[in-house]
Amino acid sequence: MHIVFNLFITFIVNSMVLSSHLGPVASETGQLKNVKTLTIDRMVHLAAPGPNDSRYAYVPFEVPSGATRMKVSYQYERAGGANTIDIGIFDARLTNSVSHPKGFRGWSGGRRSEFFISRDEATPGYLPGEIHAGTWQIILGLYSVAPAGVDVSLKVELETGKGVPSTAERTITKSEGASSEPQRAKLNQGGRVGKSIRWWRGDLHMHTIHSDGDWTVAELINSARERGLDFICITEHNTSSHHAEIAGAGSTLRPLVLRGEEITTYGGHANAFGLPAGTWIDFRVTPKDVARISSVAAEVHKVGALISINHPFGHCGGCSWGYDSAIQNFDAIEIWNGPWDLSDELAVKMWDKLLQSGQRITAIASSDSHRSNSPLGQPTTSVGASNLSQSSVLEAIRRGHVYLTSEIERPQVRFEAQPESKPRLRRTIGDEVYAVAGETVLLLIVVNGTPPDATTSLISNGEVIRNFAGQPTSPIRIKVEKDTYFRMEVRDKNKTMLALTNPIFVKVKRTLRRFLARVPEASSF
Ligand SMILES: [Zn+2]
Ligand SMILES: [Zn+2]
Repeated sequence: MHIVFNLFITFIVNSMVLSSHLGPVASETGQLKNVKTLTIDRMVHLAAPGPNDSRYAYVPFEVPSGATRMKVSYQYERAGGANTIDIGIFDARLTNSVSHPKGFRGWSGGRRSEFFISRDEATPGYLPGEIHAGTWQIILGLYSVAPAGVDVSLKVELETGKGVPSTAERTITKSEGASSEPQRAKLNQGGRVGKSIRWWRGDLHMHTIHSDGDWTVAELINSARERGLDFICITEHNTSSHHAEIAGAGSTLRPLVLRGEEITTYGGHANAFGLPAGTWIDFRVTPKDVARISSVAAEVHKVGALISINHPFGHCGGCSWGYDSAIQNFDAIEIWNGPWDLSDELAVKMWDKLLQSGQRITAIASSDSHRSNSPLGQPTTSVGASNLSQSSVLEAIRRGHVYLTSEIERPQVRFEAQPESKPRLRRTIGDEVYAVAGETVLLLIVVNGTPPDATTSLISNGEVIRNFAGQPTSPIRIKVEKDTYFRMEVRDKNKTMLALTNPIFVKVKRTLRRFLARVPEASSF
């Protein structure tokens, strides 16, 4: 037995207790089974990490062949909240490869003080399966550590023989998979056909018992269906254990459910949307390590998924975004997380500054629901796509065909633009409109379902250029001289956001002819 030393672990006691017993024991179901239990006790001291230090510590232990179940528990002095230590585990297949991490078996953050893994079932957040012989590693995440450091005591109980479920909490079984999914309504493709798009309403950020939420996967999907959402993405903190409960992307049932992961570092959170089943994204990024978070974004893109910056001004410890210069590698930014507040206001400002600098990143909104008191779809992200499929939803986000509303059904928003004399070139949110310098662009702004004292603002290059009281319906004309963008915000009388669109970009040149030759194909509507 050995223990890894790094900068932050000072070994105090390595008291390995091999209390093994062999013989008939009574299980909870009253059956007698031959179970051999090996108990390993450890104590580690974690020093407070410096600002540039890794925030992860590893505690290795040996698993003999023939193990069928393991239970891990840990304790430490919380010191009135000064100490918070997260936990997870890697199995014997762990490698040091950054691009192909192996052996991940689960993560529960600070939610649980114990978990188990067996061949057929596991605590939510953990992956059931073979208990490989060899060196496993408990990973401890240093969310917060008091200046004096913290002692953490760990206990691993390994069973060989027939395992006995010992937790009263609902567990996840390997065979559960799609069979546990509730009946969902058939997807109605509806809308227009061909290249035309229609707007699909979704929520891209939520949690279940697989991380720190109270929903089960089935409850979440049921709620989304009842509330009329077309798609959702389930984004657990740092684990993929919920993927097995989500039917394949080829499912024709509504809501469309995307697999996600909230890559939760101690220097900011990022969501991956549309991961292949079972794909886990390595979250072990040291705060401010821009190169490492950029390689995480590249890994997400490599598997065909998208990555967003979450709640960049989030209130909780480690929730604010700390990798600014990596933003160019991200597809989207969550500028609206749950009920509108000052942190969202700051996020919109940050996003608009990016737009002013010429960077295109799609604004999205999410409930970040953890339980039923935070309803799904408040706020809602609507995407413009020709059909409701994972690839269409992801492509719509990539292209900025996205607007955001405070509720699923309202406000209703329409925002389109065209050079005044060329209706054939009318484009929608996320598109580019091509115009000649001095040409007039016609902007169609329609808003319904708002309180009478709401205000709609048209914004360009960081400035509000027009305000409309009530519910605007008529087009406005603006002469354009240089490249710009137009976007729309709708707020109530207290300035609380009710709706926000991504921009329509206007590209301006001296002559239109050479432009038209290379106008990219845009969505018609
Ligand atoms: Zn988060
Ligand atoms: Zn979250």
